[in-house]
Amino acid sequence: MGEIENYMKIELPAISENEGLARMLVSAFLLPLNPTVEELADVKTALSEAVTNAVIHGYEGRGGTMEITFERKGRVVLFQVSDYGVGIPDVDKAMEPLFTTKPEMERSGMGFTFMEAFMDEVKVDSVPQKGTVVRMKKKLEECGCEV
Ligand code: ATP
Ligand code: MG
Repeated sequence: MGEIENYMKIELPAISENEGLARMLVSAFLLPLNPTVEELADVKTALSEAVTNAVIHGYEGRGGTMEITFERKGRVVLFQVSDYGVGIPDVDKAMEPLFTTKPEMERSGMGFTFMEAFMDEVKVDSVPQKGTVVRMKKKLEECGCEV
């Protein structure tokens, strides 16, 4: 108990229909951990913000390959969303609340802020013209269940 590990790695096209798929996959992955309704909602929102960013910013809606890694160690869950798109020139600036490079698309610049609010840790590595990796981590509450 506590040290049980699991992981899943998937590669899929960066298209908006896969935002819903990513939410479903993360729900299924977390189900054995018996997360609270709030934890599940938080993780789904954070992951789908990262996936949406890969779709609309990383590949600017033109599609491309993204990878999502789901991992857990005990009740600590880690997710990684990678794209090989345009990258982010200034990550610190991009992570500021309300910063967006697509105001014309009615983006509010709150994606990273939500990820940081809903997860314990969010780390972003990005290289312009190479791509972006977003890693996030959250420890789920103890639940008296098996894992
Ligand atoms: P919202 O998420 O509220 O709809 P947003 O996507 O613009 O708006 P964030 O998710 O916080 O806001 O992202 C901030 C900015 O970081 C984006 O406008 C974009 O310039 C850049 N960005 C985020 N993710 C990526 C990515 N995967 N590839 C390239 N640029 C990105
Ligand atoms: Mg966003």
